[in-house]
Amino acid sequence: MAKILVVEDETDLVGLVKGWLEREHHLVETACDGLEALIRMETNKYDVVLLDMMLPSLDGLEILKRYRRGGGAAGVIMITARSHVDDKELGLDAGADDYLTKPFQLKELAARVRAVLRRNHVPTSDVLRFRDLVIDPHEFKVLKGGKDVHLLPKEFRLLEFLVRHPHQVFSADELLSSVWESDTDALLDTVRGHITRLRKKLDSEGEPSIIATVYGVGYKLGPDEGEPR
Ligand code: CA
Repeated sequence: MAKILVVEDETDLVGLVKGWLEREHHLVETACDGLEALIRMETNKYDVVLLDMMLPSLDGLEILKRYRRGGGAAGVIMITARSHVDDKELGLDAGADDYLTKPFQLKELAARVRAVLRRNHVPTSDVLRFRDLVIDPHEFKVLKGGKDVHLLPKEFRLLEFLVRHPHQVFSADELLSSVWESDTDALLDTVRGHITRLRKKLDSEGEPSIIATVYGVGYKLGPDEGEPR
């Protein structure tokens, strides 16, 4: 799963792109105005931004230049209506990772997104394993010791996120910004509540919890079998 911002003012196209990427299990947000997009990019952590060139208030190229100048590191795919070589070159020079020319196939777009994620070392959808858990991000399934465990969507995302970053400690705030939508009403208590429920659903008696609390800092994935506890 990746957190993706789609910046485009053609609402029909935005709907199609959002729908397609959500079917690929990404968390997708949208912006239709240039300045709004830049502010969102600077204040949220996206893995990929799909950035149209022609936008109201600030064009895609200017957004990209300012974003990179400010140290913004998300993968950026420029979308241009024109097939002018100039636009592509300007975009790539300004720090775009890739570009697409309209009209494009949604399948092609999804493939470019995967390529940018791979290049930026954001893991894509393989089956994940941890202790006796098998987590299938594509099918949205978790098996524990071969048996189905029913998780709510955000519980699933939280588990997937932790398993994909096994040695890192995250504050509740970082989990909130990585796993929840940027405009969410969720609170830190929501994150804590999800962690409690995941533990209840997934922990085994006599074993350390699947999610370890690091006091004063936050949470990390629990120790794996054979790891020091
Ligand atoms: Ca546009």
